[in-house]
Amino acid sequence: MRRVYSTDNGMMAGLVCDLLRQQGIDCSIRNQGLWSALGELPPNECWPEVWIANDRDFDRAMHIVNAATVPDTDAGPDWTCTCGERIEGQFAACWHCGSPRP
Ligand SMILES: [Zn+2]
Repeated sequence: MRRVYSTDNGMMAGLVCDLLRQQGIDCSIRNQGLWSALGELPPNECWPEVWIANDRDFDRAMHIVNAATVPDTDAGPDWTCTCGERIEGQFAACWHCGSPRP
C-alpha cells in the first residue's frame, strides 16, 4: 500500500481513484469518512487520501495523478499530442503516450 494523492477536495480524490482504476491500478480512498468531520480535526489529518494496493504501480500511478491534477491556474487551451491524441487543457500530459504538454 502506498499513498499517491491527498487533497482537501473529496471529489478530486474520487476522480483520481476512478482514473487509476481505469488504468488497471487497484486503489482505495482513505479518510473519506473523516473528511465530513472537518473542522474538528487538524485539516491535514483528515484529508481524503488515495492509496494504491501494489507498490509496483507507484510510478505509473503518480504519472496519472500528476496529469490529472494540474492546478486550475495552469490550465491552458486544449492541445494535441504528437501521437495525435486530443487532450483537454487542464491535463499536463498525454493520456495515451505520456508525453508532457509541449
Ligand atoms: Zn500522446
